Amino acid sequence: MKRIAIIGGGISGLSAAFYMEKARAAGVELEYTLFESGQRLGGCMSSDYIEGCLVEAGPDSFLTEKPWALSLCQELGIADQLIGSNDSQRKTYIVVKGRLVVMPDGLMFMVPTRLVPTALSPLFSWRTKIRMARELLHPPRPMHNDETVAEMVERHFGAEVVDRLADPLLSGVYGGDAGKLSARAVLPRFVEMEEKYGSLSRAMLAARQKMSQAAGKQPARSLFTSLKDGMQQMVDAVVTRLDPAAIRLRQHIQRVYPENGGWRVSIEMNGDERYDAVILATPANVAGTLLDGVDRGLARNLLDITYSSSVTVTLGYYKDQLAKLPPGFGFLVPRSEGTRMLACTFVHNKFPHRAPADKGILRCFLGGARDEAVLGLTDEEMLDTVYRELRDLVKLDARPIFARVYRWREAMAQYEPGHIARVQSIEKRVAEIPGLALAGNAYHGIGVPDCIRSGKEAANSVAQLTPESQPTPL
Ligand SMILES: Cc1cc2nc3c(=O)[nH]c(=O)nc-3n(C[C@H](O)[C@H](O)[C@H](O)COP(=O)(O)OP(=O)(O)OC[C@H]3O[C@@H](n4cnc5c(N)ncnc54)[C@H](O)[C@@H]3O)c2cc1C
Repeated sequence: MKRIAIIGGGISGLSAAFYMEKARAAGVELEYTLFESGQRLGGCMSSDYIEGCLVEAGPDSFLTEKPWALSLCQELGIADQLIGSNDSQRKTYIVVKGRLVVMPDGLMFMVPTRLVPTALSPLFSWRTKIRMARELLHPPRPMHNDETVAEMVERHFGAEVVDRLADPLLSGVYGGDAGKLSARAVLPRFVEMEEKYGSLSRAMLAARQKMSQAAGKQPARSLFTSLKDGMQQMVDAVVTRLDPAAIRLRQHIQRVYPENGGWRVSIEMNGDERYDAVILATPANVAGTLLDGVDRGLARNLLDITYSSSVTVTLGYYKDQLAKLPPGFGFLVPRSEGTRMLACTFVHNKFPHRAPADKGILRCFLGGARDEAVLGLTDEEMLDTVYRELRDLVKLDARPIFARVYRWREAMAQYEPGHIARVQSIEKRVAEIPGLALAGNAYHGIGVPDCIRSGKEAANSVAQLTPESQPTPL
């Protein structure tokens, strides 16, 4: 019987455990133990109910374009609990000189695909609009060096688009800085599009046409998908499928060592245990520390993957207090505006089921790669900052009926230039060490679907699941 230790009980480690449990049910001889240092499972995936409102502490949804979260929900039997974002209300604003300016129609991520709305939008200066029109003539070119997102976007559309779109969008998704993230690692499709088409706008238009032909008359899918009872519902559904005896909470792993063809796992205050294989589903810097005595080069590479921290502040209001709020999903704030708030989601518009009819929820994001210091503020200081900035940006003076601050220290891996080469080198070395696998948001995508895929692949690799025992092909 093969014994496997999974270290880290976030969605990556939970997915590894789930796919092992599934293989076990299919007759594969293995046993697993899931070690989590905290008091609960799910890592940064966690939802609360406050005053009848569903409050997401970390991720609030996932994209179905990457299929692994959707397939996990189907395999868990909770597909009927999936909900889509209310895209008829989808409108996002960018703060420009203290005022909310709506993002023009046809903007796909940060690439304009419709000339008229872009030309009429006050979001960009005429200089930028002319630059956008000229971008259609960009010739194809391979990207030789590992440019940052800011460099690539500036080459195509100019510095204003970096400031007003690329940077705020990446702060929202990655807690990142467009000037530090690798285009090849974070926006691989843009790099491919540039190689094939030259112009990103032409490439996006072609992709859009292909998508609408493929979709035919099918109703459009919502952009964001979530669960009726929040993302925690996915965590809970996985946990109910695991063997309770295999889950060990409040067990902090200090080191792992290869020993006699297996692994010794050292548990703080609890001695050592022996396993045949280990999956490290922790942040990469923790994996680096755990492996320090095993392979210095591998540990160094893992420790070199940097992280940013994030804070979410959720505020609940009575609907009439929010009467002055514009319609839509919320707003993003460029760094040049000088606020601490990076973004604010109008949750009751994005997912109306999350608030009773008479209440509304605002979720504000702070922190990110450029403002680690915000984590040092007390809750009161954090709330004072958010109240002041909401008053300045959306004229919201009322105090909320509840407020909740969640701090996520070093939670978002930052894919800096060199990331792809570093991950290749990490994976090459890991493949040479028997019975070791890594999972998590540090390697091939930080979104929930990529984390689930990483857990599933790690399970397949250490348990050497045969195609028949694998629940679905990778
Ligand atoms: C505020 C926020 C909003 C986000 N929004 C979205 C979103 O809307 N959509 C989306 O797709 N993604 C989003 N993400 C990203 C996504 O949620 C994360 O990348 C993903 O949940 C990470 O899961 P994980 O299991 O890899 O890591 P984690 O959730 O960090 O879990 C790692 C676990 O390992 C445990 N651990 C660490 N060290 C040890 C040790 N030594 N021994 C034992 N246990 C240990 C930790 O306690 C933790 O529980 C968001 C992230 C944050 C922080």
